[in-house]
Amino acid sequence: MKKIILAIIAIVLIAVLPVLKLQSIQEKYLPSESTTSYELRNEATEIFAKGLSYKTISQVPRMIDSAAFEGLFEHLQTSFPTVYEKLQIDTVSTHTLWMKLGGSSTNAENMLFISHLDVVPVDPKTMKDWEAEPFAGEIVDDYVYGRGALDDKASAFGILESLETLLSNDWQPSHNFYFCFGQDEEIGGRNGAGVAAAMCREKGITFRTIFDEAGTISVGSVPGLENTPVALIGVAEKGYISVEVNFEQPGGHSSMPDTENAILSASAFITSLNEEPIFSPEFTEPLQGFMTHLAPEMSFGLKWAFGLRPLTNSLILSNYQGSSTGRALTTNTAVATMVGAGIKDNVVPSSSRVVCNTRILPGYSIEDIVQAYSKRASQYGGTVSWYNDYGSGPTPTSSYEGKDFINLGQSIRATFPEALISPYLTLGGTDSKNFEGLSDQTYRFLPIALTPEDLPRIHGINERIHVEAYRDLCRFYLDLFQRI
Ligand SMILES: [Zn+2]
Repeated sequence: MKKIILAIIAIVLIAVLPVLKLQSIQEKYLPSESTTSYELRNEATEIFAKGLSYKTISQVPRMIDSAAFEGLFEHLQTSFPTVYEKLQIDTVSTHTLWMKLGGSSTNAENMLFISHLDVVPVDPKTMKDWEAEPFAGEIVDDYVYGRGALDDKASAFGILESLETLLSNDWQPSHNFYFCFGQDEEIGGRNGAGVAAAMCREKGITFRTIFDEAGTISVGSVPGLENTPVALIGVAEKGYISVEVNFEQPGGHSSMPDTENAILSASAFITSLNEEPIFSPEFTEPLQGFMTHLAPEMSFGLKWAFGLRPLTNSLILSNYQGSSTGRALTTNTAVATMVGAGIKDNVVPSSSRVVCNTRILPGYSIEDIVQAYSKRASQYGGTVSWYNDYGSGPTPTSSYEGKDFINLGQSIRATFPEALISPYLTLGGTDSKNFEGLSDQTYRFLPIALTPEDLPRIHGINERIHVEAYRDLCRFYLDLFQRI
């Protein structure tokens, strides 16, 4: 009898211990003190909406629409008069705004806030699917429609609106606030934020913390937390590289084809990327933080699975492979994006080329990726002949224990009380990568709540933001600027 009781106790402990081990760490993000709440201007939303009417489009090959940028700058200057009166404002490169607001403290540290003023183009074929003109700054049913409504004019205008509000109330930060509004983030940022960063290097300006766009408040997208908004703060950014793989095989007349040729080799190589991924999935540091922040908030079963880590790591990782986001978070993705071969319909070509794109996990270098491609390509008779020189390695991972991560978390909770806070891995690129080495901490967060159905609107059709969501975004910056 005693043995049975002991066995039951042991089983219960094994079942419950992993769950008990996971303690919520969300409490540190409850606002430790409240900031002054200032009234936003009534016209804030209209000012923002008009900002979307300037076609500050970034495209390749590079053609900058100077008139659009000049128009936008004029609009900013008339809309934010106190900002233009009190800040030191310079134009860097051709159309990047660099602003400075000096702090009052004798030990003032430098903080940098980044956003970008350029937007992606609208595919003309999709124009008819828009519920409002993408470059008219229209407000329909309380939504502001247009390119930049989410990415990233919302952030630029929100920052300026809250500054205008604070400065009109004679507020001054204790630290030095710098602002960078880039001109070409959507094509890598080299001519905008890149030039601003070079200027900082030259002048020896470094930053305590850099804040940029990227992670949002995810509503319904985090598995296991479908009913809770989760603020995802990018603490690292994946790298980027494209490689070209070439295959050469004797070609010939298509009337008597061989069983092997350059197209077949390329196709076998491409298929292998999917069926037998070059890299195995793994947890990087941002994902470790993601799990420690969110697992304690999940259901008993999921807590149990996460609590038993590292025993359950492979189970969790294999689960992640079920979705494109999960795979992107845990692997060096590898996908063919361009293929080419052939000159005539009745000639079997003697060469083919495949361009593949990889987003690089923290911890890997560009060389690691090129080597891995070379190894895989050689199994199919291919060679890596070229890779783009504008590739960038992954960024270092910033701490999610430090003061400004907590400040950021508290400002999120002050504005969006329901949201859980978590570090995250940014999958795309942001302007902040240009500032690598100029700060130990870079946090990428855009204070907008997005549901799975909102996500395709970014760079897609019907990009829009609710007028109240825009005002919340402004309130978030009001809180963050004061909290820092
Ligand atoms: Zn962006």
